Amino acid sequence: MVIDLSELLSLKDKVKTVEIPLEMENFSTKLGSYKVTDKKPMVFKFTGLGNKKVNMEAEFSVTLLMPCDRCLEDVKQEISVSTSKEINLGDTDVTQRDVLDEMTYLEGMSFDAEKFAYGEILMNLPMKILCSEDCKGICNRCGTNLNHGDCGCDTTEIDPRMAKAMEVFKSFKEV
Ligand SMILES: [Zn+2]
Ligand SMILES: [Zn+2]
Repeated sequence: MVIDLSELLSLKDKVKTVEIPLEMENFSTKLGSYKVTDKKPMVFKFTGLGNKKVNMEAEFSVTLLMPCDRCLEDVKQEISVSTSKEINLGDTDVTQRDVLDEMTYLEGMSFDAEKFAYGEILMNLPMKILCSEDCKGICNRCGTNLNHGDCGCDTTEIDPRMAKAMEVFKSFKEV
């Protein structure tokens, strides 16, 4: 959804508060697509600062289903965003704006709330996702989720041809 900011262009101290729903059902990045299981409407407060400048305060939260780094089970991750920024509507240099990634949500006087939300969620994605601090992960041999019980595999003795591959596998999984 796009919010027209033109009325704030020259009016100092004019305040515009907008509450709009977040539209996304999935959050997709290069790394994967995560289902949105819960979301709170975005609340924006724009304040005209005069001189074509607008201060924006934004607040929203979204819950994504993301796989645990160790056992790959889906974990609910709530991402809360609370931020404020100064937007310069007088900056009509579009090429410059395109370079600055964070400014692509602004086109002329139109503020694209959904694009803005996408960028904020991306910046706030957790680096590490664990279903619990003591997640046991999955068995290197059979793939059983060890949180659900022991699979009975003998993990002490590893085929030397597999050992190398296992190390690589581990370095990816045991973050
Ligand atoms: Zn886990
Ligand atoms: Zn096993």
